[in-house]
Amino acid sequence: MLTIALSETRSLSMNINQLSEKTIGCPYCGESIKVLIDTSELQQQYIEDCQVCCKPINFIISANLEGELIVNVYSEDEAF
Ligand SMILES: [Zn+2]
Repeated sequence: MLTIALSETRSLSMNINQLSEKTIGCPYCGESIKVLIDTSELQQQYIEDCQVCCKPINFIISANLEGELIVNVYSEDEAF
């Protein structure tokens, strides 16, 4: 089961076509976990618990010049 905390500021309605599945590495346990990214908003930040170790992962979503989705993850104690 996936629990996704989407940005509360987004105004577009839910659309499955705007969700992109990405695999990231947990900064705590190192496990690869799949997350669904809402691509309707390319500048967003949220916290989602790791599906393996249940620790809160900071997600920073952005896009490069080609419009490609960039997903960065940080642990709670990392400064960014
Ligand atoms: Zn983990």
